[in-house]
Amino acid sequence: MVLDKLSDSLKNTLQKVTKAMFVDEKLVNELVKDIQRALLQSDVNVKLVFELTKKIKERALKEAEPSAISKKEQLVKIVYDELVEFLGGAGSKIEIKKKKPFKIMLVGLFGSGKTTLAGKLGKFYKTRGHKVAIIQTDTWRPAAHEQLKQLAEKAQVSFFGDAKEKDPVKIYKAHKKELSTFDIVIIDSAGRDALSDELIDELNKLNKEVEADENLLVISADIGQAAEKQAAAFHETCGVSGVVITKLDGTAKGGGALTACSVTGAHVKFIGVGEAINDIEEFKPEGFVGRLLGMGDIEALLEKAREAMTEEEAEDLGQRFLKGDYNLIDLYDQMKAMKKMGSMSKIMQMVPGMSQLKIPKEALQAQEGNIEKWRFVMDSMTKEELEDPTIMNGARVERVAKGAGLVASDVRSLLKQYKQSKKLVKMMKGGSEKNMDKMMQKMGGKMGMKF
Ligand code: GDP
Ligand code: MG
Repeated sequence: MVLDKLSDSLKNTLQKVTKAMFVDEKLVNELVKDIQRALLQSDVNVKLVFELTKKIKERALKEAEPSAISKKEQLVKIVYDELVEFLGGAGSKIEIKKKKPFKIMLVGLFGSGKTTLAGKLGKFYKTRGHKVAIIQTDTWRPAAHEQLKQLAEKAQVSFFGDAKEKDPVKIYKAHKKELSTFDIVIIDSAGRDALSDELIDELNKLNKEVEADENLLVISADIGQAAEKQAAAFHETCGVSGVVITKLDGTAKGGGALTACSVTGAHVKFIGVGEAINDIEEFKPEGFVGRLLGMGDIEALLEKAREAMTEEEAEDLGQRFLKGDYNLIDLYDQMKAMKKMGSMSKIMQMVPGMSQLKIPKEALQAQEGNIEKWRFVMDSMTKEELEDPTIMNGARVERVAKGAGLVASDVRSLLKQYKQSKKLVKMMKGGSEKNMDKMMQKMGGKMGMKF
């Protein structure tokens, strides 16, 4: 994994959140400080770091707790969201259009990894079923022609070039017609030690002929924050459409290079993570940040956040309820769904027969308060217990109560509600007037609508 150190410190930071008793301003401050330290050590620009952490802090302290995830989880999700945004947001990858050929031109300074990338991209797109050609227009480095030719062989894609020609535009022109039979054409170009007027002129002339669909700036990660200046300069003079950060495998400064470019508005499209032809990754901020923060944990968390039920799902669950075919987890989901919808009357409308019932408002409100407790109780129960609450005995109740930081009666009350709700459903299935009357009595009375 690239940026190991950054990843380690961010993971440690988030662990602190998980272990904390509760989310308060002190914890948020600590978290923000830790994130700042981690990013600064990874060479991210100070100003950017402060902007990012300010946003995280503001959101963490302001946002109300969502129904599907806990406050702690929400905090982790905010960090995730903001880091993704920081790295360019979701959905910035290159869309290969159907036009023929789709042209990707690579520009950048000497040694940034353009030629290597041309080979990698050739393989990348060939593997994805495109007919790919690579053309060398670097007439500056004598070895460039042979270097790319060999890479093209490795990638098993077509190679074009002319080792003797000195004018890059002429090389491209000479092959233009043939290149138009390919799906994707990758154009390698010459670099210089610095972005000189001469290089700008050369690249602009070449691109006038090529009319690239994507003009990718290749930057080596080891220049760190300096990537910003480079990206801005290339952006202004050569109209860069995206950036590729190479050599992320070999430096702790990658954070600087990765984040610096976003300032220019050019998104990072790929990253180079080694010298071999397969050492390339399409850069997707979501996945990248997910891995930085510990993929498994984040995925589970995002899943949970997404899980907040839609109305159809709630309806489906309602149907299962009517059949009496549900366990404690379903009941909990149902409660959550109700909370999310904001009103229980909506759910009631979905359950046949229920909409006619007049349920006291207080009963509904009391129910809302219970959801929190339920979560703690259920978090402390085993899967087996959740699926079949009838196995709960005294010892188990004690254990769960302890784990949840509650008392045994809280656990029993949950179990009781579960049992009662099952009974209720049975009665409803009976459906007779008499049963309905009985049910209404119970709801208004001691059951207090413990659905
Ligand atoms: P160019 O001058 O921009 O065409 O750069 P090259 O493609 O010739 O690459 C310069 C050097 O960087 C070569 O030794 C490559 O093997 C190396 N290189 C390129 N990309 C990567 C990468 O992602 N990781 C590592 N470790 N080395 C790379
Ligand atoms: Mg080269």
